[in-house]
Amino acid sequence: MKWPKLRELKEAVTSLVKGPYTHPFPAAPTPQPEWIRGKPVYDPAGCIGCGACAEVCPVRAIEVQDRRTDDGRWTRRLVLHYDNCVFCGECMRGCSTQQGVKLSSSYELSGFDRKQMVETVEKELAVCELCREPFAARDHLLWIHRRLGAGAFANPTVYLVEQERLGLREVVERDDRPIDRSDIQRVLCPDCRRSVTLLDEWGPVK
Ligand code: SF4
Ligand code: SF4
Repeated sequence: MKWPKLRELKEAVTSLVKGPYTHPFPAAPTPQPEWIRGKPVYDPAGCIGCGACAEVCPVRAIEVQDRRTDDGRWTRRLVLHYDNCVFCGECMRGCSTQQGVKLSSSYELSGFDRKQMVETVEKELAVCELCREPFAARDHLLWIHRRLGAGAFANPTVYLVEQERLGLREVVERDDRPIDRSDIQRVLCPDCRRSVTLLDEWGPVK
């Protein structure tokens, strides 16, 4: 019994001289390895608001909130609840642009209010000019335009959003007339694009 006590005594004396073996966290930050998986952080410049990160998150820690603002616009807010996050990195791996969300080295995440434990990014949504429903983030459509290059001319929605960005398009409001082939040249959701294309190809459904 006396040897363990002597060993403990030796360790006590050694630590008096050398200081404690453990890190002084939380008084001082703990040194972090380069590969640490800390809080996921959005980059508004790299994010296009596609929502793929929410789809792949295994614990459903990311909410997609589409809502209408007071000035009548539609926005998409991605809310990442990092109190539910398991730091797996799937959102970063599955990010469409590979630039929208990254795991940071931030790991001191404790707090008293879980409602405050969110990381967010907000994007404007494009609204269908026929059904008036929001259907995709504008930055997402612009990103598709950049990716497709000349191929973007196959889809009027994609190149019209780019023309709006360049200030080359003025949106003419529709009246209540039935859809016709002139509606091809409008920003449309996939359902309305299909209706207009079918009408143009085969005429009105009898
Ligand atoms: S790191 Fe994993 S758990 Fe956390 S938000 Fe991303 S996908 Fe979800
Ligand atoms: S661009 Fe990346 S971070 Fe932004 S919504 Fe899409 S998957 Fe999520």
